[in-house]
Amino acid sequence: MTRGGRAFVTGVGGQDGRYLARRLLDEGVEVHALAHDAEPPPDLPGVELHLGDLTRADDVRRLVLDLAPDEIYNLAAVSSVGRSWEEPALTFAINGTAAAELLGTALQLRERTGKDVRFVQASSAEIFGNPDRSPQDEETPIRPVNPYGEAKAFAHQQVDVFRSKGLHAAAVILYNHESPLRPKQFVTRKITSTVAAISRGAADRLVLGNLEARRDWGWAPDYVDAMVRTARSDRPADHVVATGVSHSVRDFVAAAFAHAGISDWEPLVEVDQALVRPVDATELVGDATRAATELGWTPTVGFHDVVARMVDADLAAY
Ligand code: GDP
Repeated sequence: MTRGGRAFVTGVGGQDGRYLARRLLDEGVEVHALAHDAEPPPDLPGVELHLGDLTRADDVRRLVLDLAPDEIYNLAAVSSVGRSWEEPALTFAINGTAAAELLGTALQLRERTGKDVRFVQASSAEIFGNPDRSPQDEETPIRPVNPYGEAKAFAHQQVDVFRSKGLHAAAVILYNHESPLRPKQFVTRKITSTVAAISRGAADRLVLGNLEARRDWGWAPDYVDAMVRTARSDRPADHVVATGVSHSVRDFVAAAFAHAGISDWEPLVEVDQALVRPVDATELVGDATRAATELGWTPTVGFHDVVARMVDADLAAY
């Protein structure tokens, strides 16, 4: 499909950024991305990388005004809740303040050029904290319980502020979404990579924190599809993006071992209290009815297939 146009993506080196860049390039969109100048640049053929740092807002503003993209996807984030406890100020600067700055730049671009710039913010289920209702939807109160959620909540609310000023801005409230590109600090990939290692005789146990936490785990490329649909929709609105089904960490562990052909897995798993978080949402599960109705979005890959694809990819690495 040749669509054309130009997109600016932050966080392009992460799981979602990689899938999004591939998707947009396949559509014939010219993809520009900000790459952190303190890190080795990601290997993304076809993507025009601009070195910089999201926390240097003036530089980013100049770059974006100069590029004048049609679509802006703000995916950059300190992406793990665990790390946000270690670096709360950095988390707020990147996940919160930088998003607000970029929204301001998008509005400025719209006002200067008359272009109907589309802004998509990668928001998160973590804005709901430890919600007292399941599933959550777009009306669930925003009450984060960790520095990651706090910063994402600020950015989320800024989207609403800038939308009220006429910007086509929308937040996708993303529930956990996984793939073989998920870094190993997330529990899913930690599980699948360790299960593969155990299966190949390269490890002898899997050490985890809270096994009873329940999450709504989807397939990352599906969630990227929701982002693109959001950018292209006629009316900007926030949407929960989720499968609507939750499973416990224990369920994920059992499914991963089962897929690797190991049935007696309990003796191989150890709980380390140091990995149990100070505050952890008991259950996050989303109701994506509005995304289905307004964006025509539905998930295409269910829990067991997500687990199977990740285990297979990790087994293939040996
Ligand atoms: P999050 O939901 O965005 O924080 O994604 P994670 O994959 O990091 O964590 C999902 C759930 O797994 C949380 O409830 C964690 O407390 C739980 N969990 C249990 N053991 C571990 C572990 O060893 N590492 C991580 N990252 N999470 C764990």
